[in-house]
Amino acid sequence: MDKKRRALLQAGMIAGGTGAFALGYATPVSKAVNGILNGTSGVPANDRIAGNALAPEFMVDAAGTLVMAENQVVSPVQCFGCWTQCGLRARVDTASNRVLRIAGNPYHPLSNLKPPAQETPVREVYTGLAGEAGLDQRSTACARGAALAEQLQSPYRVTQILKRAGKRGEGKWQTISFEQLLQDITEGGDLFGEGHVDGLNAIRDLDTPVDTGNPEFGPKANQLLVTNAGDEGRDSFLKRFAFNSFGTRNFGHHGGYCGFGFRAGAGAVFNDLKKFAHGKPDWEHTDFVLCIGTSPAQAGNPFKRQGRQLAAGRSDGGLDYVVVAPTLPNSISRLNDGRGRWVPIKPATDDALALALIRWLMENDGINADYLAQPGPEAQAKAGQPSYSNATHLVLQAPHPEAGRFLTAADLNQGDADTLLVVDPQNGELVAQSHGRAAALWVNREVRVNNQPVRVKSALQCLRESAFAHSLDDYSARCGVPVNIIEGLGRELKRHGPNAVIDAHGGMMSGNAFYTAMAVMTLNTLLGNVNAKGGLALGAGGVAAVENGPRYHLAEFDGMVAPKGLFLSRNRFAYENSSEYQRKVAAGDAPYPSRAPWFSFSSPLLTEHLAAAFAGYPYRLKAWISHMTNPLYGISGAQAFLGEKLKDPKNLPLFIAVDGFINETTALADYIVPDTLTYESYGFTKPWSGVPQATTTARWPVVTPATPRLANGDYLGLEAFIINLGKTMGLPGYGDNAIRDHQGRLHGLHTGADFYLRAAANLAFAGTPVPDASADDLVLTNAARLMPLIDNTLAPDERRKAGFVFSRGGRFAPFESGWQGELMNKRTKESLCIWNPTIGTSIHSMTGERLSGCAALYEPRFADGSPMRAHYPEQEWPLLVTSYKSHLMSSSSIGAERLRMIHPENPVSIHRKDAERAGIQHGQAVRITTPGGSVEGIALVRDGIVEGAVAIEHGYGHTELGAREHMINGKPTPTNPRLGAGVNQNELGLMDPTRQDVANVWLDWTSGAAVRQGLPAKIEAV
Ligand code: SF4
Repeated sequence: MDKKRRALLQAGMIAGGTGAFALGYATPVSKAVNGILNGTSGVPANDRIAGNALAPEFMVDAAGTLVMAENQVVSPVQCFGCWTQCGLRARVDTASNRVLRIAGNPYHPLSNLKPPAQETPVREVYTGLAGEAGLDQRSTACARGAALAEQLQSPYRVTQILKRAGKRGEGKWQTISFEQLLQDITEGGDLFGEGHVDGLNAIRDLDTPVDTGNPEFGPKANQLLVTNAGDEGRDSFLKRFAFNSFGTRNFGHHGGYCGFGFRAGAGAVFNDLKKFAHGKPDWEHTDFVLCIGTSPAQAGNPFKRQGRQLAAGRSDGGLDYVVVAPTLPNSISRLNDGRGRWVPIKPATDDALALALIRWLMENDGINADYLAQPGPEAQAKAGQPSYSNATHLVLQAPHPEAGRFLTAADLNQGDADTLLVVDPQNGELVAQSHGRAAALWVNREVRVNNQPVRVKSALQCLRESAFAHSLDDYSARCGVPVNIIEGLGRELKRHGPNAVIDAHGGMMSGNAFYTAMAVMTLNTLLGNVNAKGGLALGAGGVAAVENGPRYHLAEFDGMVAPKGLFLSRNRFAYENSSEYQRKVAAGDAPYPSRAPWFSFSSPLLTEHLAAAFAGYPYRLKAWISHMTNPLYGISGAQAFLGEKLKDPKNLPLFIAVDGFINETTALADYIVPDTLTYESYGFTKPWSGVPQATTTARWPVVTPATPRLANGDYLGLEAFIINLGKTMGLPGYGDNAIRDHQGRLHGLHTGADFYLRAAANLAFAGTPVPDASADDLVLTNAARLMPLIDNTLAPDERRKAGFVFSRGGRFAPFESGWQGELMNKRTKESLCIWNPTIGTSIHSMTGERLSGCAALYEPRFADGSPMRAHYPEQEWPLLVTSYKSHLMSSSSIGAERLRMIHPENPVSIHRKDAERAGIQHGQAVRITTPGGSVEGIALVRDGIVEGAVAIEHGYGHTELGAREHMINGKPTPTNPRLGAGVNQNELGLMDPTRQDVANVWLDWTSGAAVRQGLPAKIEAV
């Protein structure tokens, strides 16, 4: 850190906080003082009370008529301030093409807890927002959502096509034409004076194996990696290109370094290892929520909605809640003292607490035995339970070669392999799971399979043995939560039963993330709350898939191809099926370990894609098209390792980024294609979870994009780039006759609107079609702006219905549709897994050990199975770093000045006693060091953090996004050092010391999720 700056900061912080406040708020404070003396911010005030605040966008006059401000409209939009992706409303000045203000979309359940029916006219809904009546229907944006429209006019935006003019990462660029971009990247050549680079035409070889010795790897076309940040509404468009037009198997997104550890564990419990279903509390009706690894009102998803639900529940309802976290979260409010409690816990030890609670519930009659005893849907229905589990199903035990799977009728020659067996508690007989009555919960006996004795145990028995492997004292010592608190939490869960919910999310990202999430989510199954009103609820999801709908087949087209072969991140594929394994076995060699982990049940992992490509295991990449991804900032330890590798084009010869900004990863690209931002683009999203009404958000360009306009009138951005790339390469699915409608007629795909307007028609006609929008709806929201385009694109009967969807900002099921009596309306029909047989029959490719199919205590460990502490002992690394999120800043919002004014940087939290031991004063500059790196920040010494932890808020410490100067055509770009303020915890990320051959950063040993919780560390004053 710059010494002058450090001294300045130290001086400020030592002054007991006032100094820090004054320093951090210097600009607003001086403006405020100026305002008091000279009017608002030195400018004469327009109004004695409102100052120079914007005049309202509309007013309701004495006659109750809604009167819009001149040249202003209020359009529904979708926020991208975080992955909640709320529906918002943008006040747009049509004359200046500017978004003036952001608030919530009143129709949208992520912004309004009880929205009006979507059929309600826009005028009526907007009128209801005015005056005192508006409080009931207030629809809000959070601070971040409200501030992010600034990004549209950001001086740091990329608005021209850039080609690197120096070495990778040097920050030197030249602008080029769209035509040159397309020629360069399709034809290839000596593009940078560094030797030949294959273009995409050469890479798209769908026939030749990428590795003839390993035919399961698939064709050479797999050497293109396509990534996006996640589904921000354009996922289906980009996947259509990657999978079905180009034909690569490799598509990645940020999940592996966001919350995949949680999703994987939740998916294992929900019996869904494909989409990794998860649930959220039915906040309106639950009595007690135990949050572990998530802090509603501070972070989590849906962030804003949960924050409001929490506040309403503790103020007006009967909600009690506990948040278990290393740091005191915003979720706890002194205003409702006694309703919410914070339980401090050591970082990365949530599994110990969850298993302690499982043990306590089992020992104290706290599990829902009536619920757990129902072995299938027939018994569940008779017993009136909201769902059922496999607690009573019988798990084959070792040494049976298929240990871990369930006993079936075929094993006993009494039926087929699909019929699972359970024990009838009345006579001890083995009966089919579907026999329709309760089954025995605790089973540990022998059966004869092929005339051989085989031990079987019920899934619940397996879980019991796993949980009872440690005492409460042992669990308590591991997690730092006193035994009496564990017992108290157990009593609360038992008391509330299925009206208690255990909630979790991204805080699970430890060196044992998957099993931690599985243990935490298993608690819900033991209470029997899944699908129950007031229990754990699956989200209702979207109203309909927009890709293949009743009007247009957008995801299917003539000539489409299907991707083939092994994912680069070695996921969804058992190592035992690989040629490598077969070769080793045939040669008589031990098949384990593999060269690097195979993540047999995970989704594709951007945490592993790049390391795999750099090592050529399983194969190398030749090109990467990245849409808004920033793994070098987001993956713990990535900048130092993957970033350095990526700087060498030999490791990945062609890197094309499509982005609105130069981020830490994009900075290493060969080409940057400017992208439209959220308010300038189309997209369709659905809530992740936590919304009981089916919801699809439809966003559309409410302002004209700032990107270059192309010859066909379209604006450059992701869609224009992909469509023109597809046309240049002659790929199927682009150009004339690329879209088939429901009557078999073909239409062209030349612009993004060609795709998304038809997606809107699909959404409008799904199920019962929506009504037509009125002219008034269209004018008030400015969806009228789209109508000429809609008229040219859609059939006459579709036009006003698409207008309806755009004027509401999506399609929303009625509020009442969320519940059905005492059940959630949207329910899982799967057997909830106390034991997941897919996991329980998997073998870890590095250690050769059979994985536990139920929750179990594993310490945070590396890929070879060795505990982290065996490498980095506590004596040398006494602290554990934990990351948390802010309610104000996200990883990409640092460019919003209004947010920086409120929250300029992220001091490093440390407990008072740890600070005393290290001789650190509040406000002092400190250095935190891990085996992977070190960062310097300012100490925030507090009691609101567990002893032994260092907590760093995510979202700061950027080195790009405007923090660093680049040269474009020899001219410097604008910069602002405040964009680089604070600390990025991910710079402390570790390499996995046990992965020598195919090196990578530390990943969760089973799921491959990035590890950012529980990094071993030490701290010192500097
Ligand atoms: S929670 Fe806030 S930042 Fe996130 S999408 Fe909603 S309004 Fe935007």
